[in-house]
Amino acid sequence: MKQTENWQDNENLDPADWASARERMHRMVDDAIDYLSTLRDRPVWQPMPETILPHFHQPLPRGPEDPQHIDEELKAYILPYTMGNVHPRFWAWYMGAGTVSGVIGDFWASVLNPNLGGGQQSSNLVEAQVIDWLKEIMHYPMEASGILVSGGSMANLVGLAVARHHMSGFDIRLEGMTGTNPMVVYASQEVHSSVQKAIELMGMGSRFLHKVPVLADYTMDVSALEAMIKRDRAAGLHPIAVIGTAGTINTGAIDDLDGLANLCKSENLWFHVDGAIGSIAMLSPLVQPQLKGIERADSVTIDLHKWLHMPFEVACTLVRNATNHRETFSLIPDYLARNTRGLAAGHLWFSEYGIQLSRRFRALKVWMSLKEHGADAFGRMISKNIHQAHYLGRRIDEHPHLELVAPIGLDIVCFRYNPGNRSLTELNNVNKEIKLQLEEQGIAAPGYTTLGEMYCLRIAIANHRSQLADFDALISAIEELGHKVVASQ
Ligand SMILES: *Cc1c(COP(=O)(O)O)cnc(C)c1O
Repeated sequence: MKQTENWQDNENLDPADWASARERMHRMVDDAIDYLSTLRDRPVWQPMPETILPHFHQPLPRGPEDPQHIDEELKAYILPYTMGNVHPRFWAWYMGAGTVSGVIGDFWASVLNPNLGGGQQSSNLVEAQVIDWLKEIMHYPMEASGILVSGGSMANLVGLAVARHHMSGFDIRLEGMTGTNPMVVYASQEVHSSVQKAIELMGMGSRFLHKVPVLADYTMDVSALEAMIKRDRAAGLHPIAVIGTAGTINTGAIDDLDGLANLCKSENLWFHVDGAIGSIAMLSPLVQPQLKGIERADSVTIDLHKWLHMPFEVACTLVRNATNHRETFSLIPDYLARNTRGLAAGHLWFSEYGIQLSRRFRALKVWMSLKEHGADAFGRMISKNIHQAHYLGRRIDEHPHLELVAPIGLDIVCFRYNPGNRSLTELNNVNKEIKLQLEEQGIAAPGYTTLGEMYCLRIAIANHRSQLADFDALISAIEELGHKVVASQ
């Protein structure tokens, strides 16, 4: 073979000088602590200046760069312009704010760098422990199974894949989706888009995701669902599953999970709960009663990088019947065959419970964080956010130019600026402009949605760093901006 590179046997990718690597990493820790302890001093978000763009259109670096230079680039062009969801006044979409204990867990996960596909290793025990804790939180049976995945979208896909496999009535892994009566899945009109993606990806067709109307509080109309199931059965369709949402993305509404569990039982349907937002609120005594019935679900999605504040990415699917779960995904080729001794022994092979073979050690940050703070602390942060949502709601109610446009569900407050005598279109434009200016001025990052035809600000307070004064600041800023924006129209 022609040798074109000049490699040496003792070359590797470790630091050439461990002492300076140690120094660099110590500096990194100092910088990270500085960053996190001074969040309030900085804008929530800031637009990226054009001048940074060339730094991200560089040719592939063929040779080494000075680590110090790389760290400087990180600080100059990356740190200031990330999303901002770690900031106390970030309330957009639905994010978590991260924890230092989670950072330490992720750091160690990368240092150890094990592959959680399977095998005899402590890392698997950590994941199993975290899953057991989640079962305990959900009041789920301990013989249930579970797997940590990248996020709520993947957790929904895994849960629905098990539902489809178990409910199809034939060997769907062998036969595929051919030649069957279309299988139908039901969810409310407020269902998250990830569910539709899962249905599409599984080849079931989004036309067979039947969306059930909601009541005035944005929860699923269970009697409408019942009628739809009957109608579909009469039309020769094959209903297989109902998805209840525990905390909808628009308004935080929690479907009547107990009612849905009853209906699924009598109709012999799989009951999946998309609890990406609200399931972890089982930790809050304030919310727990509203989640009654979640413990009866056949599968549950729990997103841990949202209201549990784990650094992205981590979520969990729990499946009540471990056999159903394993039968959906297990495939053991020769090169993964099990031994009774050694590294390839043991029964904890998470690759048999999901799509991924190689998997990162995402359990570690959850394990470390739950131990460091205790689960009750996370529950208190959830309750605090709910109190803050209602505080904000009261401030809105008292204000002559602000109005709530949906009931407050969990920690989500939907409202708009409305000084009166303006058309729907005008109000929509005013509120869009207020939102943009709040962001561009770095004051706050509100979310947004459209309810009915009303564009509104949507404050989703999944943020352990927010304080009441942050909501006062929000109201004052909206007051001032609203006045200016209306005057300039
Ligand atoms: C966020 C969300 C999802 C998707 O979760 P990701 O972690 O973003 O993949 C699913 N369902 C609901 C209700 C959500 O709010």
